[in-house]
Amino acid sequence: MSTAKAIAQDVRTGTRRAAAVLEEYLGRIELHDSDIHAFNTVTAEQARAAAASIDAAVSQGRDPGPLAGVPIAFKDNMCTRGVPTTCSSRMLETWSPPYDATVVQAMTAAGAVMVGKTNLDEFAMGSSTEHSAFGPTRNPYDLTRVPGGSSGGSAAAVAAGFVPLALGSDTGGSIRQPAALCGIVGIKPTYGRVSRYGLVAFASSFDQIGPFAADVADAALALEVISGHDPGDSTSIPTAVPDYDAALGKGVEGLRVGVISELTGGGRNGSRNGGGNGNLLEGIDADIAERVLEAADALAEAGAVVGSVSVPAVTYGLTAYYLIAPAEASSNLARYDGTRYGLRIDGADVEEMNRLTRRAGFGDEVKARIMLGTFALSAGYYDAYYGKAQRVRMLTRRDFDAAYADYDVLLSPTSPCVAFRFGERSDPMTMYRCDTCTIPSNLSGDPAMSVPFGTGTDDLPVGVQILAPALGEETMLTVAAALERAAPPLPAPQMAAGGASGGA
Ligand code: GLN
Repeated sequence: MSTAKAIAQDVRTGTRRAAAVLEEYLGRIELHDSDIHAFNTVTAEQARAAAASIDAAVSQGRDPGPLAGVPIAFKDNMCTRGVPTTCSSRMLETWSPPYDATVVQAMTAAGAVMVGKTNLDEFAMGSSTEHSAFGPTRNPYDLTRVPGGSSGGSAAAVAAGFVPLALGSDTGGSIRQPAALCGIVGIKPTYGRVSRYGLVAFASSFDQIGPFAADVADAALALEVISGHDPGDSTSIPTAVPDYDAALGKGVEGLRVGVISELTGGGRNGSRNGGGNGNLLEGIDADIAERVLEAADALAEAGAVVGSVSVPAVTYGLTAYYLIAPAEASSNLARYDGTRYGLRIDGADVEEMNRLTRRAGFGDEVKARIMLGTFALSAGYYDAYYGKAQRVRMLTRRDFDAAYADYDVLLSPTSPCVAFRFGERSDPMTMYRCDTCTIPSNLSGDPAMSVPFGTGTDDLPVGVQILAPALGEETMLTVAAALERAAPPLPAPQMAAGGASGGA
């Protein structure tokens, strides 16, 4: 299968036609998406028109851009003009936005060709894509298992070879965790690095858009295209976008890499100075922590200075997030009341219409979050819950700052476990624990990414998480590229063995 980089180069130089590339990918989707269900909508005709105009530009001697002719999928919570944007919810099942999200505009301007919108947990709330109102997405590595979530459709689409690139959103781990479970690369950029304009809001102080790709170079390329200041998002950072590709070849000699002791059990036999031993946070699989230590060894081998570092606040991250995120969601989702957007169930009066609409439009997980958030914000409880959670957020930032005084990047597992079976994590607490390692960087707003590194239980992919300080994407990518070079090769996805790769 070609990389996005190779496709764009071929299309720009006229070696391959965007139309031909597109048909190859549409063919794979046609053949295999009935097994995977990565897509809510496939926009084949629109894509054909876009590919034709790319080819026309090339033949007229114009350059369509750094992603010329690269098929791309957007998570179905990103606004696409005239194309359904459902958030995998009954509430928005028939809603098509009147405008494109800034990331959609940026991708299109760079020559990428949208092939469709991908499945997610309803309104991005979940870690398995089982909470989609339209049925779950299956993991291309094992069809009996989840792809992770909430951006499970985007992750599965890339892992299955349906697209070389996809975008997801990450509020508490929704890019990194599915990337890990599907054996691909996923980046959550610094909060504010990528515009949220046109991303349907879940928890606005955490939400961030980022790329999925089969390798680090493609992910870096996509990140560069979508990064940058956007006056349409008041939290967008007005800082120039670096040349991320240049960071990939830099090498890790002398870089200081800290392994987060709470998320890895303190290093092998506690030998990595400090952090202790046997304090692995509840629910993190030992063989996953082991892969992180192997990744650290590989970086040391490549010349990095590796140590163990304690970031105490990571142990409170989950609790704080599951108060703040629902609180913000309860406010953001108040707009779905039947008045202006999406579903409306008529009633005797406005209040009844609101009630009936919300009862029919939202699934159970979304309702649970709205109730939790409303409770956490209610008078009398605000200080005890929401206020306290915000203090944990401050603590997290402080602990990370302290760690980054000694280290350039940090390492941890991405997900505490490999891809699990459908229904296996049906109680909320077990499901929420999926986010243990990813949430801290949403609380701090710092960038983090997942890179495949070996396998765990049942030979399923394991992701190692690289964390960096705010706007530290370049160093993070340098380390990611080094890890990728050192990583043992992954087995092929189950469905690809059945012919999804089309022999390419
Ligand atoms: N799993 C987390 C949640 O359910 C994170 C979701 C996300 O990042 N969108 O809230």
